[in-house]
Amino acid sequence: MAELTERGWLPDFLYRAGKFESGIALFADQNGRITRFGNTEADLAKAQRLPNRALLPGLVNVHSHTFQRVIRARTEYRTKAVKDTFWTWREAMYHAALRLSPDDVYCAARMAFLEMALWGITAVGEFHYLHHAPDGTPYDDRNLLAKQILRAAAEIGIRVALLRTAYVRAGWRKKLEPGQARFITQQPEDCIADTDALDAFVGKEIPKGRAWLGVAPHSIRAVPRDYLLEVANYARARQFPIHMHVAEQTAEVDACHGEYGARPVEFLDQTGILGPRFTAVHATHIDEGEIARLARHRATVCACPTTERNLGDGILAAGDLEAAGVPICLGSDSNIQIDSMEDARQLEYNLRLLKRERAILAPSSERESLAAALFKTATANGAASIGADGGSLETGKPADFFTVDLNDISIAGADRESLLSHVIFALQRTAIREVFVSGEAVIREGRHADQEQIIQQFAKLQQRLWG
Ligand SMILES: [Zn+2]
Repeated sequence: MAELTERGWLPDFLYRAGKFESGIALFADQNGRITRFGNTEADLAKAQRLPNRALLPGLVNVHSHTFQRVIRARTEYRTKAVKDTFWTWREAMYHAALRLSPDDVYCAARMAFLEMALWGITAVGEFHYLHHAPDGTPYDDRNLLAKQILRAAAEIGIRVALLRTAYVRAGWRKKLEPGQARFITQQPEDCIADTDALDAFVGKEIPKGRAWLGVAPHSIRAVPRDYLLEVANYARARQFPIHMHVAEQTAEVDACHGEYGARPVEFLDQTGILGPRFTAVHATHIDEGEIARLARHRATVCACPTTERNLGDGILAAGDLEAAGVPICLGSDSNIQIDSMEDARQLEYNLRLLKRERAILAPSSERESLAAALFKTATANGAASIGADGGSLETGKPADFFTVDLNDISIAGADRESLLSHVIFALQRTAIREVFVSGEAVIREGRHADQEQIIQQFAKLQQRLWG
């Protein structure tokens, strides 16, 4: 019987264990798990031929705020502020966040997830902090907005780690702003009860492995020590991933010093929150000592280079993190762009511009070692960070993968030896043709089945918000 339900794919090149191979087919069972790789004549005849295609493991986008898709390209001008920075951008973001109904949250999430799927992203970490009505009143179902995100992800067919935030205050010695009312959960017990309720909902309503929970204390600024400790203890007991914005801005480093007399990662180390399930998002302004602490606790750093360059945040010390053995993964964050390969190459390009050197993140002088290291940030490292069961093509893992057209203008002429470098340094979305999650096609011929309708609805939303 197993023979009947087995499905196989045979591309020109297949990427596994850090390199491309030819003449090898990937097989999955009816549950969408990879059962084996075959290269016998019978195997090759049985598999579906994917001519002119390379097949790669699905990309993992660790850090997204889908609702921020509505402010894409709406903040690229000078305001009346003395200086335009992250903080002036944040005003615009708060303003938009206040105007979104539950249906709008769903519509924006569907649009962002659609773009991710079209980009070969098969799993995403949604750092979700819009919880309540605009005046801060909880909805009758306190998890209504989180469920809108889950519904959107299910409709697109992408896996999602719903990273439920804790957010309590504006910051040390700062008064709460009206724009933050939707984010706030005053009591840690409520935050934990909401997360538990959401976890029960996911367990009951969503197929296993398609969605799961994580905990996200928003930042040191937004969550004071005692609250942080409670949430961290809870996450540890439940073995949830813990994600947190860390040291994105120098102002946060200064405030942490003022409040706790320690740098951000130093403070987090003292709370006991650091560990293999901890991901520090951004970590732009951390020093050598903090890198050593992250390494000691086997924590991960999520870089969001397309957002960080857009907001003028600063540059991640990716080379120092790599040297210390801290895994780096990638997030589209504000969704100003959704392009994981651009995020991956930007990690390296930032350092080239700073140091006036090349191939800085290459672990060795082997030809494809730089591309392989950068590709790992977009796949296996990301999967480990959000607790996804994918990130590489191996027997027993889900058949989550995407294909690229070898004749696409952005990579045409690549051979096996240079293909991964072509993918990392030049791939355009037009090259991505098929995207599979659990062996099911989410994208065929570069299109999603509901694409037109999703785009139309989103265009209407934008007209209402900005027209
Ligand atoms: Zn973020």
